[in-house]
Amino acid sequence: MLGRLLRPTATPPRSRKLVSTNVTQTGGAPLDPADRPARFAGIDVGGTTIKAVLVDGSGTVLEERRRATPRPGERIAERVTGAAAELIGEFAAAHGPLGGAGVVVPGVVDELAGVGVYSKNLGWHDAPFARLLSEALEIPVGFGHDVRAGGAAEAWLGAARGVRNSLFIAIGTGLSAAAIADGRMVSGDGYAGEIGHADVGHGEPCGCGLRGCLEVVASASGIANRYSARSGRSVGGADEVAALVRAGDPDATVVWGDALDGLAVAVRWSVYLLGTETVVLGGGLAQAPDLLLDPIAERVNEGLSYQRRPHIVAAALGDRAGALGAALLGMGGLSG
Ligand SMILES: [Zn+2]
Repeated sequence: MLGRLLRPTATPPRSRKLVSTNVTQTGGAPLDPADRPARFAGIDVGGTTIKAVLVDGSGTVLEERRRATPRPGERIAERVTGAAAELIGEFAAAHGPLGGAGVVVPGVVDELAGVGVYSKNLGWHDAPFARLLSEALEIPVGFGHDVRAGGAAEAWLGAARGVRNSLFIAIGTGLSAAAIADGRMVSGDGYAGEIGHADVGHGEPCGCGLRGCLEVVASASGIANRYSARSGRSVGGADEVAALVRAGDPDATVVWGDALDGLAVAVRWSVYLLGTETVVLGGGLAQAPDLLLDPIAERVNEGLSYQRRPHIVAAALGDRAGALGAALLGMGGLSG
């Protein structure tokens, strides 16, 4: 049922190619799903850490492993692929043959082409991950985007379970989103969900060259930086700003309010455009739900009349969401 939920309802010509490229068994025809061992590895390649999970067919985690992400540099895509293949090999050695695996990476990711188009932090351009992975692994392997995988996992097992129209917002060093509309993940050739660089009207410059970007006011690093700039006191992170909001610090309250205002603009547009029913907020900030969920909902609702009010909820899967979504890809249950 989940596979149907997240798979495109109509198959455009390019995605027919994707199915054979993205879920590949080297050296033979694709395995019949019924014959595949019900163990799947999910690998989430982050800027500093690779998170790996081994799950059964229902998403129960059998084992979890972590290791450092290879440092950017020459042949980074090959080295990341090698690290992912090693982790998958370790799971197979410990638990027996796997039915499939999925690998997700950050940046702009074109799932249909199987390419990591661009990662600022890891430094690749047009890295052919689907091909590299299918060459390195002898099991069906899927490839995708970390935030879309996180959104898919929250819809599969987490806070948006059973919801056909959801928006997952990952709030971290950066800020981006994954939209599921009518049960389909929206990929836009890899460009969907980049709401961090949507103009929400504050006018301050962003590293991307534009002004007013949501990420400047509402990413975890943006909140910490803006508080430091405004108050002259440096803080370790957005969680410290949250604590200062609770303590009644006026600078923290203003900075936090700007973040809420910006997020509310993004959520409202998702509601207008896609009829989003549930908004899942992920990342460290979701640890302060009392300062985030109701205040955003109030701001969102001020801009809605006859539209249905979205539920604003905290992510349920923590920093495992991307790896769980990658495992879902390995089952063939997620398409862009
Ligand atoms: Zn920007």
